[in-house]
Amino acid sequence: RQGHLPMVMLLLKCGADPSLIDGEGFSSIHLAVLFQHMPIIAYLIAKGQNVDTTDFNGQTPLMLTAQKAIGPEPMRFLLKFNPSLNAVDNVQKNTALHWAIASGNTSAVDLLLEAGASLDIKNVKGETPLDIAYQSQNHFMLYMIQEEEKMRNRRNNRLLKIVEKYELFLMLASSLTFMWAIGYVVDLGSDSWLLKGGLLLSLLFGMSLFVRQLVGLKNLRYLPTAFLLSSVFWMSMTWFFWFLPDILCTQEMQLSLELLVNLNLVQTDEHMMGLLYYFYKTWSTDPGYIKTSEEEKKENIIALAEAGCLDFRTFCTSCLVRKPLRSVHCLACQACVARYDQHSLWTGKCIGIGNHYYYLLFLFFLTMTGVWLLYGSLQYWSNHCAASFHQDDAWMYFTQTVSCFPWVSYISSVACFHTLWASVWLTVQLYQIVFLGLTSHERMNLLVQRKSSKHPVSLRRTPYNLGCFQNLADFFQCNCFGMFKPNIIDWTKQYKLFHLAKEKNVHSV
Ligand SMILES: [Zn+2]
Ligand SMILES: [Zn+2]
Repeated sequence: RQGHLPMVMLLLKCGADPSLIDGEGFSSIHLAVLFQHMPIIAYLIAKGQNVDTTDFNGQTPLMLTAQKAIGPEPMRFLLKFNPSLNAVDNVQKNTALHWAIASGNTSAVDLLLEAGASLDIKNVKGETPLDIAYQSQNHFMLYMIQEEEKMRNRRNNRLLKIVEKYELFLMLASSLTFMWAIGYVVDLGSDSWLLKGGLLLSLLFGMSLFVRQLVGLKNLRYLPTAFLLSSVFWMSMTWFFWFLPDILCTQEMQLSLELLVNLNLVQTDEHMMGLLYYFYKTWSTDPGYIKTSEEEKKENIIALAEAGCLDFRTFCTSCLVRKPLRSVHCLACQACVARYDQHSLWTGKCIGIGNHYYYLLFLFFLTMTGVWLLYGSLQYWSNHCAASFHQDDAWMYFTQTVSCFPWVSYISSVACFHTLWASVWLTVQLYQIVFLGLTSHERMNLLVQRKSSKHPVSLRRTPYNLGCFQNLADFFQCNCFGMFKPNIIDWTKQYKLFHLAKEKNVHSV
């Protein structure tokens, strides 16, 4: 009841029986759940208490949380231990979902539905969870359950099952089509901007409808990735079918420039190959997820509790693992990532120790591809557009060039957008790695700390900043012909801060 973990450990060591039931009908794990002492719950389960232990009325800890707990945390925590979702109590034959609905615990309902709790089990009065929701007249909860039911029915449909399986490919294909369609509308021969605007608006409307209907919530985060890949596809198509023949033509005319043009061609191809390769590597390489088996998790909990450091700043309650130094729990990936940098919007994956290097190269090649494409479009415009800067004013010149080849303008604006964000982000990343020795996440944290703290917080004086050259050598793990000795640190297993630097650093990150 009071949350005294050391006393719980001492009593268990001396042979106390945690499964005994008190006067109110609760066993010790029920009390820990009721008073939300997460370390004690973890410790009791790690010590072999069954997570489905029933109390006097046959209620499991999960049912008790569904009925009485406030906020999503206790339920989320219990679900980590794989409790039985469809167990029923002795008296009312309610499942945890029945209890959650009856007591109006919305967050618990949400978590239980997500975990796959059954919607068909009837209690002693013959009521399903949906019936109870009707009675409670909680409209939001009713909506949640009906939506879940619809989704589960859809999952049984064979066609939709196939769609779900290939959802990512479908998303990519439709994103390609939409991008092409936008370009097609922009490129239409008609001069009426009203017509084009109307068509574009209806395209956008169709796109949002499509996304809402077909893309599941889980895959929604890959939408920017689909956009990026289709941009790259249409950029390369434009390069090969518009600019390349043009440049080859020029090549015939200007033999003296042959070498330069050849270099240009080869480089663009290389950049695109490099871009795709490093995108694939960033996407497919494990960023450094912290993995442990069930047994190891339990051993960890016991060892940490007995060492007096079952502290939720160093222990991840979602993964039930001890967090290594510099690791962060990513909510999108549902895992702890070693030397976490960010969850990348454009690749839809976490960036950590495993793929940070590939991510930088991906940014580099994206920038280069964009720059060459912009160069190609400038060449194309200067060769084919009649508008001349000297005769007209700047705005006229601009509009004439843009309307000269709408498709080229469209693709080059997409290229411009990608070049801009990639180059800015690459610069920021390099600055952080070389001059600060920090990850983006750590830097953001320190910046927030600096705002709220009365004392000056230095970004440069951290234990991870070992000077520009050493930072660089550590990041790329290169010794630059023996000039530097990179520190080899396994960030997936590093728990304690050690003094990398000779000077004593004042701030911990
Ligand atoms: Zn975690
Ligand atoms: Zn992530």
